[in-house]
Amino acid sequence: AKVTRYAPSPTGFQHIGGVFAALVNERLASQSNGIFYLRIEDTDQKREVEGAIEDTIATMNNFGMNFSEGMTGETTEKGNYGPYKQSLRKEIYETFAKDLVRKGLAYPCFCSAEELTELREKQMAEKVTPGYHGEYAKCRNLTTEEAAERVKNGENWILRLKSPGDPEHRVKFHDLIKGNISFPENDQDIVLIKSDGLPTYHFAHAIDDALMGTTHVIRGEEWLSSLPIHVQLFSVLGFKTPEYAHIPQIMKLDNGTKRKLSKRKDPESAVSYYKEQGYPVTSVIEYLLNIINSTFEDWRHENPYLDYHNFEVELNKMSKSGALFDIIKLNDVSKNVICKFKADVVYDQYTTWAKEFDKKMYDLVTANEAMSKEIFNIDKEGPKPRKDFAKWSDVEEKIYYFFDELFYNESKETIEYPKNVNQEEAKRVITEYKKIFDITKDQNDWFSDLKEMAVEMGYAADRKSYKKDPEAFKGMVSDVAGIVRTALTHRTNTPDLYTIMQILGEEKVQERFNKFLE
Ligand code: GLU
Repeated sequence: AKVTRYAPSPTGFQHIGGVFAALVNERLASQSNGIFYLRIEDTDQKREVEGAIEDTIATMNNFGMNFSEGMTGETTEKGNYGPYKQSLRKEIYETFAKDLVRKGLAYPCFCSAEELTELREKQMAEKVTPGYHGEYAKCRNLTTEEAAERVKNGENWILRLKSPGDPEHRVKFHDLIKGNISFPENDQDIVLIKSDGLPTYHFAHAIDDALMGTTHVIRGEEWLSSLPIHVQLFSVLGFKTPEYAHIPQIMKLDNGTKRKLSKRKDPESAVSYYKEQGYPVTSVIEYLLNIINSTFEDWRHENPYLDYHNFEVELNKMSKSGALFDIIKLNDVSKNVICKFKADVVYDQYTTWAKEFDKKMYDLVTANEAMSKEIFNIDKEGPKPRKDFAKWSDVEEKIYYFFDELFYNESKETIEYPKNVNQEEAKRVITEYKKIFDITKDQNDWFSDLKEMAVEMGYAADRKSYKKDPEAFKGMVSDVAGIVRTALTHRTNTPDLYTIMQILGEEKVQERFNKFLE
């Protein structure tokens, strides 16, 4: 059984990459009947935002990921390995820090910012690796008494690791996604405890993941370069190093170059974007599963109705380099997800979304519940189910014409006519069709009537005869159907016309024909 975790910093902004990482962690824990827990990494208190913990939990639950241990609210938690919030673990870090000092593996450093700048300049001039290391680590050599005296005198200090590493040494490591890697041993005297008394990410990570029993640290690849430090810390602290998997970041193509999805530039980097646009959570999860394992697509094809939890995520099948964020792919995945929802589910999810993000549509759709469900049911069954909606914000454009309030208010410019049909001819067709239209007929008879009328008016019965001698005809029967479609929907591309008429009903159809003729 694997013990994995999601360890966000409560900065208020939830990046889709966080959900991505959490999903991998959650799936691997769940697939192995293990534990998936939530740890809050709030050691950078300047960046903390109130309510962020509750938001994170709500988001995770919404995406169907539940924590078996960890924080359950801003101040509440469950599980035996807490506290699960780093700011509440200060004493734990201090205990380990003192132990390292006692063993001569850590020491207080009093260097000011200016001194560190000077050091960097000196190192640049001497062309040595910058940083606090080896002979350049000035405070390394203070005697215990000296250091104690300066601390007592109230000087500012931080705690540094007395790195036992030698960069001439290479360390081999197996990352579960990146494969075999090797890196020079860390020789930097990295900071363990900051001047505010809180630990750095590095120090807290090693202690927490060891004490909380994490077996697999699965995190963003931006941490890969810190791995030498982390491996060293586990060893210095006497802990067993966990397994690591560094997840590639979600990238975006920007003017031909690949770059990270950016919080500043890309709205789709925010988890809230998907909610606002109205992507069902299942769509987002299935899209992310596609990025995690490209085999998901085939699996989904073979198992169209199985819940995605039945798909087994495998780390070794994950792409080593960053996957490209692809909104077209997301929309495709989502259309396939939505098209499998029953009409009632579409109705419920759509109205839930609209209630928050589109009050006008919410009012219209809920006031016409029965009709709306019929609309959402169009072409649900059959070999070619309708795939109109990728997200709930697409719905209005696809169904607006059923609602008089929207249909009659549409600006004339956006009305679509079939190709090669002029308005006068369109009116002639509708004038005739009005007379014979009979809503009570079944689909076959209804179509025969339309065809008969069209042929009498000079339209070709089929494509073949039209092709043979286009001059002899005004067009084809399908053009006549197209004109009727325009009169009733203002669109040239809609689901089945007969079904639309059935839903609109006799009265509305006649009314729309009359308006069309005005
Ligand atoms: N707090 C870190 C972050 O948000 C966690 C990284 C990790 O999973 O260890 O990036």
